[in-house]
Amino acid sequence: MSEKERIRVDSRSRAEFERAKRFIPGGVNSPVRAFKSVGLTPLVIDKGEGSRITDIDGQTYIDYVLSWGPLIAGHAHPEVVEAIKRTAEKGTSFGAPTELETLMAELVCERVPSVEIVRMVNSGTEATMSALRLARGYTKRSKILKFEGSYHGHADSLLIKAGSGVATLGLPDSPGVPESVASHTLTVPYNDLDSAKLAFERYGEEIAAVIVEPVAGNMGVVPPLPGFLSGLRELTTQYGGLLIFDEVMTGFRVDLNCAQGLYGVTPDLTCLGKVIGGGLPVGAYGGKREIMEHMAPVGPIYQAGTLSGNPLAMAAGYTTLKLMTPEAYQLLERLSGRLQVGLQRNADQLGVPMTINRVGSMVCPFFTDKHVINYDIAKTADTQRFRNVFRSLLDNGVNIAPSPFEGLFVSTAHTEHDIDQTIEAHRIALSEL
Ligand code: PLP
Repeated sequence: MSEKERIRVDSRSRAEFERAKRFIPGGVNSPVRAFKSVGLTPLVIDKGEGSRITDIDGQTYIDYVLSWGPLIAGHAHPEVVEAIKRTAEKGTSFGAPTELETLMAELVCERVPSVEIVRMVNSGTEATMSALRLARGYTKRSKILKFEGSYHGHADSLLIKAGSGVATLGLPDSPGVPESVASHTLTVPYNDLDSAKLAFERYGEEIAAVIVEPVAGNMGVVPPLPGFLSGLRELTTQYGGLLIFDEVMTGFRVDLNCAQGLYGVTPDLTCLGKVIGGGLPVGAYGGKREIMEHMAPVGPIYQAGTLSGNPLAMAAGYTTLKLMTPEAYQLLERLSGRLQVGLQRNADQLGVPMTINRVGSMVCPFFTDKHVINYDIAKTADTQRFRNVFRSLLDNGVNIAPSPFEGLFVSTAHTEHDIDQTIEAHRIALSEL
């Protein structure tokens, strides 16, 4: 056990986590935070500033989790904090229209090519769940098609694993999801347009929508192969289903105009979350007016929320989006490129097989020399190596997601110095393998 690891064993974080377990299932309010896949107890965080977080033991880390993506301008950005304070002084929630939510909706419509009109909700899960209800209500069909290894939040229809063989019906991925619900979800491998075609040949008239992460971010980072997204666009159009881009992770992360701007493919509906909340709980779904106006109160499909469009969340999100200028994305590209090159150099110099997938500020090193284009290949990467590297990085002041199936997120608050320090910590970690 290293000295730093020994300190962690005696840490206040550890004691606090034990206490949390008495009152919160597993001590956490979202499972991955429990650090189970890396066999450690989690850091309990006291504060964040810019690119760094500090735990309750006073240890500071360069942070590439950024609250699992939202904090694209870094922790506690002064302008975001100021906007939240100013808004809170006028009241925290009204359950009535405010100017702020229209300002926010206007900005989202301006920037996201597919979005003519948008509804705010409170999380990415709510966004995807509502978009699916809309797709089903609009097309009067029940089935949906998703991709293996994609995560779209924890709504019943989406917690589905693949059945065996191509174009089979799905199976529940969690107890509590009825088989009857799962049987409406078809699952095929990511980047596999032929399998998607087969699914449409068999079930095309029943498929309400295809839901896809335009860059997969929950099997590590996996970019779409050329022709994959446009192929899905053609298939859905041909069969009269909707194309839904789940941009909860990629939205305003990979580009000012989201992944759909980057790849030039326009879906019917788009789900957003993470960055648009600037660190507060926000999701959104939007798209063509003609489709969206099937939602209540204009149309018959129901969806609502006590805190939807919450003023604090709108203030944080709007301010964050305004900070994200074209120059900000150029900065992210430079920093993330520097990180990618440095990590790959370490691996090459030390003879460790490693492939890095990157789209903008989503960076994902896989411990494999294979070209990672889907979940099956992602799963062949060496997870023990990941665990060892994770621990070593933590010992050397770098916090990454405690899972080999998550990328690193870079923010505009990271500096070249942070990146270089991270590359050095990574070199040490690889040399210890
Ligand atoms: N969709 C994608 C692509 C996500 O990455 C996530 C969360 O990680 C979700 C949906 C669910 O969002 P939330 O955790 O805000 O419910």
